[in-house]
Amino acid sequence: MRQPAALPDPSRTLALLAGAETLSRIRDLREIYRHTTETAMRFLEGSYGLLFAVRFTPPELTVGLLGYCVADSSVTYWDDVCDGHSWLPVDPLLSGCLHADYGHAAVREGDTWRLAFAVGALGQARWVLEIHSPVEPGEADCAALGLFLRCFDNQHHGWEYANLDTLTRLLNRRTFDDDFERLIAAAEQAEQARLNAGERREHSLAVSQPCWLGVVDIDHFKSINDNYGHLFGDEVLLRIADLMRQSFRNHDKLFRFGGEEFVVMLRNVAEDNVQGIFDRFREAVAQHEFPRVGRVACSVGFARIDPRLSPAELLGRADEALYYSKEHGRNQVNGFDELVMSGKLRITTPAGQAQIQSDIDEIFL
Ligand code: GH3
Ligand code: MG
Ligand code: MG
Repeated sequence: MRQPAALPDPSRTLALLAGAETLSRIRDLREIYRHTTETAMRFLEGSYGLLFAVRFTPPELTVGLLGYCVADSSVTYWDDVCDGHSWLPVDPLLSGCLHADYGHAAVREGDTWRLAFAVGALGQARWVLEIHSPVEPGEADCAALGLFLRCFDNQHHGWEYANLDTLTRLLNRRTFDDDFERLIAAAEQAEQARLNAGERREHSLAVSQPCWLGVVDIDHFKSINDNYGHLFGDEVLLRIADLMRQSFRNHDKLFRFGGEEFVVMLRNVAEDNVQGIFDRFREAVAQHEFPRVGRVACSVGFARIDPRLSPAELLGRADEALYYSKEHGRNQVNGFDELVMSGKLRITTPAGQAQIQSDIDEIFL
């Protein structure tokens, strides 16, 4: 007669339930990934855990590492692998767990069990969690973890609903403010690192570079809608979003602000390179053949992210540079600082004037 599967001991089950309850309150995506992996690791007494995104573009099945977790006695370390989109061929263990709804697979390698858990229904799994553990889990352990991973899936759906634009799947305007604060913190750190390096008069390649905010607006989009209809207009928006994903790096942040306006946050880019990066994207749009519509152009304005500016002031600067691009022939990229320095743009807002004055004061200090 078949033995009933041994139940996980109550204290571990309780810890897993507590993990699921905490997960339901986490709003930050990276935290959702970290907490899920760490909770699963603890439950399975793992020493090492990796969370992969799964991509199926028939016939190819690939995975991209999102982060990994290492347990060292009672402490666990988590590392976000920021890009998460370096797609690798899937290994047999990982593909083995994808053959069932929330399936799992295990293989023994020396003293260690390599375990893989699919997150998602058959053919629709979006993640695989790999755990290395000295202990072989029972069927009931795997079933309990499967339920926990369903909670992760639900939580991720909630995150997407709140943070992504429904048409393009880029980040939405609401997410901008949260990410803006994080980017401002990074910009502040970069500024501090530069100052420190200056003080020490050291030449260090490791010194962080500034962050930038660009506003992209499609040229004459209204006439695309008028001439070809809204469906083809929407297709243009989708293609532009794809071109953004291809042109910018994975750790840059891409937003759809609404209508035909997009925002890009670039992190850690030297001043000499930023114009070229935006121009490469503008050129990619200009060269793209859009279905039915043919050629489409876009204009860009960008500004340096300065921790002393509010989001509204910063957007105002990038918008002024964008307006300049529109007024001077469209299909071009302009940066706020360069326009001001060359006398092409006059600062009209009181906040802008005060800021420029303080920048000038700093240069001559
Ligand atoms: P400019 O070159 O000066 O930017 O001109 P424009 O025609 O692109 O700008 P305008 O602001 O006059 O028109 C923007 C149009 O975008 C008007 C609106 O109908 C259209 N639009 C806004 N949201 C959407 C959407 O989600 N889908 C589609 N298809 N069109 C949209
Ligand atoms: Mg437009
Ligand atoms: Mg517009």
